[in-house]
Amino acid sequence: MKLAKRVEQVTPSLTLAIDAKAKALKADGVDICSFSAGEPDFATPAHIVEAAKQALDAGKTRYGAAAGEPKLREAIAQKLQNDNGLCYGAENVIVTNGGKHSLFNLMLAIIDAGDEVIIPAPYWVSYPEMVKLAGGTPVIVPTDEKSQFKITPAQLQQAITPKTKLFIINSPSNPTGMVYTSAELAALAEVVVSNDLLVVSDEIYEKLVYDGTQHVSIGTCSPEIYERTLVSSGFAKAYSMTGWRVGWLAGPVEIIRAATRIQGHSTSNVCTFAQWGAIAALESSQACVETMRVAFAERRQAMFDRINAIPGLSCAKPDGAFYLFPSIAKTGMTSLEFCDALLEEQQVALIPGIAFGADDCIRLSYATDMDTINRGMERLDKFVRSRSGSTEAPRL
Ligand SMILES: *Cc1c(COP(=O)(O)O)cnc(C)c1O
Repeated sequence: MKLAKRVEQVTPSLTLAIDAKAKALKADGVDICSFSAGEPDFATPAHIVEAAKQALDAGKTRYGAAAGEPKLREAIAQKLQNDNGLCYGAENVIVTNGGKHSLFNLMLAIIDAGDEVIIPAPYWVSYPEMVKLAGGTPVIVPTDEKSQFKITPAQLQQAITPKTKLFIINSPSNPTGMVYTSAELAALAEVVVSNDLLVVSDEIYEKLVYDGTQHVSIGTCSPEIYERTLVSSGFAKAYSMTGWRVGWLAGPVEIIRAATRIQGHSTSNVCTFAQWGAIAALESSQACVETMRVAFAERRQAMFDRINAIPGLSCAKPDGAFYLFPSIAKTGMTSLEFCDALLEEQQVALIPGIAFGADDCIRLSYATDMDTINRGMERLDKFVRSRSGSTEAPRL
């Protein structure tokens, strides 16, 4: 069978390979501590589930408008005004099948063959693949721990060519957990504006910030950047609704209309009754979001303390999301070697940094219970010590 060339261009997900191995071991009865999850471990809050059930009973089971239920588009626009200071109406919003699909729609709507898209590394695994699927060229700009894994305005400027169309920013970041300050965003916004680019801001983790950190949307930095900004987000992470597949893209009407045209011929509307659950999520009390955030904050501190006590690992403290991204440079192993051996020898599953374009790091998710964190960190400590050889004294 001759498959389309675009399939060859797309890299199979490394994270899924590790996950499959961990699941196979678990099925064999092995006690696995997994930190590979990219989703909250909480149940969807009951009032949201209830709203979707009521929608089913009320017959909200038919096709709807491709761009989304009008009431949900309105509620999302309102949220973007209230929480983020972004002046949007319902016409600036399309409801999509998750945040992932909102980005995919955007790529299809604006990328032509040969267009370049600037992606700071470490990046979320799907960004470069989506750009390629749309016929564009991902331009990866590496960052490191010294700059808190944040791209600088000079680095952004340097990566721009006449073919550059779009810059992708993700704050809080998956996998690093880093959060850009408003000053950092303003400086990047200036580069975007002076080169007449578009920027898409993936804000799916905006509600998960810690120690008083403020989430800022780059679109608020100036009137000029507002006109060039797309916001991509969804309900998955803040409301523990990963399986519901509801997200959104917001921005200039022309682009939202283009995305709607594409969606109209691909997926049509997002599952109607799931959208009614999402309406309840936005219109009810936000206490559930805070409850989950507080639980994440506690786990983050526990895992951070344990990791930094392991000689050979070092980790910057992330301000958001639910990941730690420690460096394994001192172990001398590649991230895949590290994760493979760790799974074999200590039955701990995590994601190699190479999946995010950073081979000297590993990603641990703390979206899991405290007992797993305690047991898993014990094992990780044992593993790193067993590998650290005799050349280096423990850094205690
Ligand atoms: C989880 C995630 C998304 C979107 O997830 P959906 O389930 O499609 O809403 C987008 N960006 C990043 C960085 C993520 O981690």
